[in-house]
Amino acid sequence: MISKNKTSTSEAVSEGHPDKIADQISDAILDEMLKKDKMAKVACETLISQNLVVIAGEINSTAKKDIDIKGIAKQIIKNIGYTNIEYGLDYKSVTIIDAIGYQSIDIANAVERKDTKVTGAGDQGIIFGYACNETENFLPIAYELSNLILQKASKLRKTGEIKWLRPDAKSQVTIEYDPNKKPIRINNIVVSHQHDPDISQDVIRQTIIEKVIKPTLQNKSMFDPNIRYYINPSGNFVIGGPTGDTGLTGRKIIADSYGGFARHGGGAYSGKDATKVDRSAAYMARYIAKNMVAAGISKEFEIQLAYAIGLSNPVSTKITTGINDENYEKRILEFIINNFDLTPDGIIKKLKLREPIYSKTSTYGHFGKNELEWEKLDFVDKIKEEFKT
Ligand code: AMP
Repeated sequence: MISKNKTSTSEAVSEGHPDKIADQISDAILDEMLKKDKMAKVACETLISQNLVVIAGEINSTAKKDIDIKGIAKQIIKNIGYTNIEYGLDYKSVTIIDAIGYQSIDIANAVERKDTKVTGAGDQGIIFGYACNETENFLPIAYELSNLILQKASKLRKTGEIKWLRPDAKSQVTIEYDPNKKPIRINNIVVSHQHDPDISQDVIRQTIIEKVIKPTLQNKSMFDPNIRYYINPSGNFVIGGPTGDTGLTGRKIIADSYGGFARHGGGAYSGKDATKVDRSAAYMARYIAKNMVAAGISKEFEIQLAYAIGLSNPVSTKITTGINDENYEKRILEFIINNFDLTPDGIIKKLKLREPIYSKTSTYGHFGKNELEWEKLDFVDKIKEEFKT
């Protein structure tokens, strides 16, 4: 049934989704490198198909010889819960191929510039950052709720409270908006969760609604008794993990960022060290956007940054605020350029991106987790002072 109101939808994937397993392995390898070598240059890509993991990419680091790549991958697979080949992957019998090479000398020279002594961007690219006032975490509500549902399911699976859940899962939430673009209610929820073979779809539906969704969402203002639920609409989801679908690093860029509510430049985050602006500038852009919305500049704020390989300053910056005043927008952009250091060195320093923090980002979104530097609201006062908001 189509709603009379405008709707908007977002989705999330669990830590057992094949693409997410790949992201977690890539980021765990990055973190292990950074623990031993803060200057490691890492671009780590993982492919997982059936019971095979191929880890490739380019890494330059003094730590390379000391890192147990295969051991890290096995530990991640085990932690997720892939402990039986019937689930689609098994840490005990998995074949792991380490095909990691070295960063091109041409790129390495462009990043570590001997002439200027400043870090150049590791690639060209366009990067977006976004925030909105729909939730306390300044994220779109459909996106946040999609993630909360899967985090709850994961908890119940891992504590053994629901024994027949397997690791692979996806969720999707549709929110209705009033004519003033205010979110008013959840219209429908889709959950596809991998499960053991000997459990009926009726029990799965009942359990997911009563034990996963309702305890997670019942106290949220968007909850509504008339929500339509689509639980395992395929009818069966026993075959899953990398046996059902190949996993690749960087293939969940929308679930990693803003769930489709902002534009995306296309560059993935996981597996990349902070000299890659695809990742570091996306974190800086989020930091700026979140502080702007928290300061009351606008309900929604999107910023685009563009870089050229080897250069440190962005080659272009643009903001989209929904404010119908070109001069005011120009002032905001000028303020950003004058007050935020948007060079790779500036971003790395401000957001402490040489630390091994990346595994925290590789599941359930890179944004909205308050312990991460780019979620801090320490620029709000300065923005308020400048714009008297
Ligand atoms: P994608 O996320 O675009 O790669 O789409 C495939 C995903 O759908 C898989 O990775 C699983 O998370 C999910 N999936 C696999 N088998 C089923 C199934 N039988 N029913 C519902 N979802 C499934």
